[in-house]
Amino acid sequence: MKECVFCKIINGQYPSEVVYETENILSFLDVNPINHGHTLIVPKQHIEDFHSLPTDLLNELIQTTSIVTKAILKSFNPDGYNIFCNNGHYAGQSVFHFHFHITPRFRFDGIKFKPNVKRYKNDEMKLVAEKIREMISN
Ligand code: 5GP
Ligand code: ZN
Repeated sequence: MKECVFCKIINGQYPSEVVYETENILSFLDVNPINHGHTLIVPKQHIEDFHSLPTDLLNELIQTTSIVTKAILKSFNPDGYNIFCNNGHYAGQSVFHFHFHITPRFRFDGIKFKPNVKRYKNDEMKLVAEKIREMISN
């Protein structure tokens, strides 16, 4: 993946502010932070999205996210925090190498994530749940 900016960071071609590293994972500051301390948790292997991650690596990513989150809480004492990952262009993913974001949040930081919500009509909610349940059991 020659053009992948995160692969370049991982192999040292691009600079980054690394906060934590394991054999399989690199964690570094986001260069365009939502708030100071906004950190990314990135597998060293180029995998594009959440559903493509092997289970062991996903578990490791979650554990690393927990370690780094606790360090961010101790560092900035925020009022809250978001952990999220964007998957696919239309979901806001701009770097197509999987990553979790951790962002410290403050009471008056003015950041709004909540979109206008949709509504379910009639039995739509039941049908939607049925569809997902069926796909899980298949
Ligand atoms: P996404 O939009 O894919 O969910 O998140 C990609 C994140 O990577 C963005 O928040 C963006 O600021 C960050 N980013 C993009 N290029 C670089 C870079 O060269 N260095 C660092 N540290 N972060 C980057
Ligand atoms: Zn990559």
